[in-house]
Amino acid sequence: MSRLFLKSPLAILAEGADGGIVVESGKIVELVPAGGTPARPVDETVDASAHVVLPGLVNTHHHFYQTLTRAHPQAIDRELFPWLKALYPIWARLDPPSFRLAVRLALTELLMSGCTTAADHHYLFPGGLDDAIDIDIEAEEAQALGIRVTLTRGSMDLSQKDGGLPPDDVVQDADAILSDSERLIARYHDRSEGAMTQIALAPCSPFSVTRRLMIESAALAERHDCRLHTHLGETKDENRFCEETFGCRPVDYLEEVGWLGPRTWLAHGIHFTTEECRRLGAHKVGVCHCPASNAVLASGFCPVNELKAAGSPVGLGVDGSASNDASNMIEAARHALMVGRLNYRSAEAITARDALTMASEGSAVCLGREDIGRIAVGRQADLALFTLDELRFSGAHDPVAALVLCGATRADRVMVKGTWRVLDGMPVGIDVARLREEHGRAARRFA
Ligand code: ZN
Repeated sequence: MSRLFLKSPLAILAEGADGGIVVESGKIVELVPAGGTPARPVDETVDASAHVVLPGLVNTHHHFYQTLTRAHPQAIDRELFPWLKALYPIWARLDPPSFRLAVRLALTELLMSGCTTAADHHYLFPGGLDDAIDIDIEAEEAQALGIRVTLTRGSMDLSQKDGGLPPDDVVQDADAILSDSERLIARYHDRSEGAMTQIALAPCSPFSVTRRLMIESAALAERHDCRLHTHLGETKDENRFCEETFGCRPVDYLEEVGWLGPRTWLAHGIHFTTEECRRLGAHKVGVCHCPASNAVLASGFCPVNELKAAGSPVGLGVDGSASNDASNMIEAARHALMVGRLNYRSAEAITARDALTMASEGSAVCLGREDIGRIAVGRQADLALFTLDELRFSGAHDPVAALVLCGATRADRVMVKGTWRVLDGMPVGIDVARLREEHGRAARRFA
């Protein structure tokens, strides 16, 4: 088996690896201290003296299809509910070929930003996609790019005619959702160490899903040992909806439907009281912080530090590309630092290393993965290497902090499971110019 030595990094986000790391069979097998050499001979040495080495970043919330409707004139400058109402009819035009390009583009963009594992929350299955092949399309595209994924079988079964927010033509029947969920779990959910594809179940939100679907999804997840994901605590409108419809607050509702447990990770988690943060933490419910989306939609601040202190794993997500509107994980770390410091009005509330750890280890825990998210012996060899060659880094002194504070946007090299998937800043095997052209053309259908 070939052994690769990543030698003498400029800086590395790991303890005891200042001399580099050794990768073999897709895993990290040795950390080399400063001035040291690998314990056994290596087959290849890569000079990393110009690179800041991070664990591969892990994105825990996205909606890939939304790359087709970024900066859409009918949706910009709106908050969540009016934003959704403006976009649902546009998203109802989604078709398999456009969807495939949206997925390819989002995954490529993520990979180039240093992301090695991505979760997607796909809940939109309009007419043309009712064979529910979209998750299959996502699995194929991820495999072709060599990026690790947690694909969530999202769902909506509560439309306007039943008191929900989405129009009737974008929701599905609960039985169809549950049987497709079982099919996808059987086909793609790999629970083994180093898995490249996992499935999670993700009813969309309290205002687009029935109580029955929440309860039965939880039971299905329990039966097949997969994770549960949903939007919760995103806006005050959602609080009002829950109070009016269920007679309780979102976290109470979560408990009622059997979701308050370590299998669950939530997107956003903004409008929680201190007591609710304690309850979520006590049950180890994970939260994906989406700072850019929360800022753009003016949703509010996620109480990241309260949740962490209470015991919740907190990860980072770019969120859908119609609210971010980008899919850049290293930028998300910068957003988390800025939004977090503003929220707490404290420059110490969140450091550059806190933001990067949230984007890697915190996210990995949200996805229930102990084999990724850190540079440590035995972990998967998922790595993101950044250079500081651009003008924006010139004069920077702390190389790790510089990535966040000076605003890195692009990794120079990205490794997933021991294989280089980005080299010299470009994704291996992808014609970026062609992808931009094809995706841009597909997006014109959604004008
Ligand atoms: Zn979302």
